[in-house]
Amino acid sequence: MTTSDNTMDSKANRKLLGSRTFNFACHDGVPCFTRCCHNADMYLYPYDIVRMKQNLNMTSEEFLVAHTTTAIRDMPTFPNVMLKMSDRQNNPCTFLTEKGCTVYSDRPYSCRAYPLEPAVYGDADGSMRTQYYVMHHDYCKGHGEDKEWTAKAWIVDQEMQAYHEPNNCWARIAGRLQADSFRAQGLDMNSPPMKMAFMASYNMDTFRHFVFESSFLSRYVVPEQQLDVVKQDDRELLMLGLSWIERFLFSDGALEERA
Ligand code: SF4
Ligand code: SF4
Repeated sequence: MTTSDNTMDSKANRKLLGSRTFNFACHDGVPCFTRCCHNADMYLYPYDIVRMKQNLNMTSEEFLVAHTTTAIRDMPTFPNVMLKMSDRQNNPCTFLTEKGCTVYSDRPYSCRAYPLEPAVYGDADGSMRTQYYVMHHDYCKGHGEDKEWTAKAWIVDQEMQAYHEPNNCWARIAGRLQADSFRAQGLDMNSPPMKMAFMASYNMDTFRHFVFESSFLSRYVVPEQQLDVVKQDDRELLMLGLSWIERFLFSDGALEERA
């Protein structure tokens, strides 16, 4: 699963949490306040883009151009999308001010999950399971605070639940893209299927035009009720986009083709 990986020059380690608890608190009184918002090598999930572009009242295309970079990392034919850091001293996140994060209510999943790091695994029967690790960076003093959490309590406190369905669906697709069956077919990140998959993952405004203004609806069965929702709702549109990727790249998933 794609997760945040803060590559600041401090050492990090992670431990499986299981049913144990961890101590943590992050607030403007910790001596390291906003340290982790600098020079972060942070992967973004598709639903992160939805939340942040809505917060900023931007189109998904505008957000991608202004606030993200891409690079081929763990998927040979599909780019990872990362949050762009500013060129200012110590490379702070562009959303960081002296008072903290300006998109806090819609901050990326990795920002809200930290120090938890979810790892999603696909089982042989097709089901998904998640294990939670606790990350320790030596610069992070939040671990010395008294507040004690279970993984479940932290997930609720950080309002992570809305992310889990789209993130898990994306993790399933990302795992299959990591398997690299496409490069053998001569495809790369600029090939039409990968560009279409990128649009359906990260660029909801363009994907909405594609759904309603191309032959999409004559080729796939989308119930009227679902169509009414995806006209307005980017999260539901993303779920349709991810289903479509599973159908057209892997020939499976919930989205049916018309006979
Ligand atoms: S989005 Fe907010 S919390 Fe995340 S790195 Fe940027 S400033 Fe920090
Ligand atoms: S306590 Fe940890 S998460 Fe909070 S600001 Fe400091 S380094 Fe970042």
